Amino acid sequence: MKNLLKSFSGIKSLIKNIDFAKLNELSQKVDLNEMVGVVSKMSEEDLAKMMKMMKGGGKKKEIPEVNGDFYTLEKTLPPHEQEIIAQVRDFMEKEIRPIANEYWNKGHFPMHIIPKMAKLNIAGLTYKGYGCPGHSALLEGFLAMEMARVDTSISTFFGVQSGLAMGSIYVCGSEEQKTEWLPQMQKMEIIGAFGLTEPKVGSGVAGGLTTTCKREGDEWVINGQKKWIGNATFSDITIIWARDLDDQQVKGFIVKKDNPGFHPEKIENKMALRTVQNALITMKDCRVPESDRLQNANSFKDTSEILRLTRAGVAWQAVGCGRGAYEAALRYTNERKQFGRPIAGFQLVQDLLVTMLGDLTAMQTMVYRLSQMQDAGELKDEHASLAKVFCTLRMRTIVDHSRELFGGNGILLEYDIARFVADAEAIYSYEGTKEINSLIVGRAITGQSAFV
Ligand SMILES: Cc1cc2nc3c(=O)[nH]c(=O)nc-3n(C[C@H](O)[C@H](O)[C@H](O)COP(=O)(O)OP(=O)(O)OC[C@H]3O[C@@H](n4cnc5c(N)ncnc54)[C@H](O)[C@@H]3O)c2cc1C
Repeated sequence: MKNLLKSFSGIKSLIKNIDFAKLNELSQKVDLNEMVGVVSKMSEEDLAKMMKMMKGGGKKKEIPEVNGDFYTLEKTLPPHEQEIIAQVRDFMEKEIRPIANEYWNKGHFPMHIIPKMAKLNIAGLTYKGYGCPGHSALLEGFLAMEMARVDTSISTFFGVQSGLAMGSIYVCGSEEQKTEWLPQMQKMEIIGAFGLTEPKVGSGVAGGLTTTCKREGDEWVINGQKKWIGNATFSDITIIWARDLDDQQVKGFIVKKDNPGFHPEKIENKMALRTVQNALITMKDCRVPESDRLQNANSFKDTSEILRLTRAGVAWQAVGCGRGAYEAALRYTNERKQFGRPIAGFQLVQDLLVTMLGDLTAMQTMVYRLSQMQDAGELKDEHASLAKVFCTLRMRTIVDHSRELFGGNGILLEYDIARFVADAEAIYSYEGTKEINSLIVGRAITGQSAFV
């Protein structure tokens, strides 16, 4: 009797505190009788769990920082190098990310960023002397990744300037040529391009160049066409590779933009790297003084020396493109909700994210070691080629998974990932296709050349 009275007094005080308006609202949504029946049958433990869930699950979930450097490779660099990376990252985030899609869509190059980029003092990063900073190849790799992580077009523009064009002069130029051009190119006051590929000769350039050069007194006369030449619609100088009609060897020339025999034409309608200005160049009796022939380029072997160095950079670019796509997907999956929760909370989504991160981490550790070998002077063609093949293949898979995780939004430019998917296709093919780089590695490991 005493207990019964106690429960009645509990119910009485409950009734006094009930908000009948809210109860009425609730009764519109659920059958209250049924609800009381179900809840009264629950164990104390389940009830406690349910209350916690209803109050918002206790402590608010902390979303981890989005960072594709899972094995913290950047931390292994000395602080002054980490500082340079931070400056480049800041530049890419503040100056490039906000305009990347707009310029990509228009197919224009943002010329106004060149002086700002020059201030970073990173062109010709690894070269010694001639106004160049003389840093490590490892740092250069990190910077290529950092740029491609935001915009692969900008990293390509920079790779052509700093790697292919400046590299040609650094590796194959005379002292006078290096002194004349490299300091201005380092400050990005002079922009360069690199013309090797031709409309009918891409993979087979080593033996198949059709652009010719012929010496006439103190001049050379160049005839032929070059295709895909990045930056060449506006570059001040373009390095042109041509076969000497007299000794059949490949020679390199510094051709100035106002040369009357030199005609670059923009290649329109690209579906990748649209911000990069690629040109079809026609040279008709293009006369270049002997003083502008690269004095130490005597055969295609010298051209290959430049490509070996820049190919390592393209592998890093592929890592950057993959990293940008992975990080975009990770961010998006925590923001996008379906079935009442972030899609990052679904097992199948996490499986894709982890697959991407595994690939990305393998790529990063591979190029890290590649650059260490470059810094130690141990880099061979096959080392750079293997990294180019592996990283561009994995990059393609990563951007594919990332796009998948964006659902329909994955094909909209404003979400960035569509640009990564498209740009990956260009990196996959340039500086030697998968097949050609595989043949280089295959020849090294088997001792058999399968080139035809
Ligand atoms: C966006 C972009 C920018 C570029 N920038 C520059 C630049 O600045 N300067 C420059 O000089 N070049 C540049 N290139 C050219 C680039 O390096 C070439 O596109 C590349 O080397 C491939 O040549 P190709 O396009 O003529 O293809 P092809 O050589 O015609 O190859 C077509 C296909 O055949 C395959 N193939 C060819 N030979 C063999 C073989 N022996 N065995 C098996 N398969 C084979 C290839 O792997 C490929 O799949 C650029 C290209 C692009 C797309």
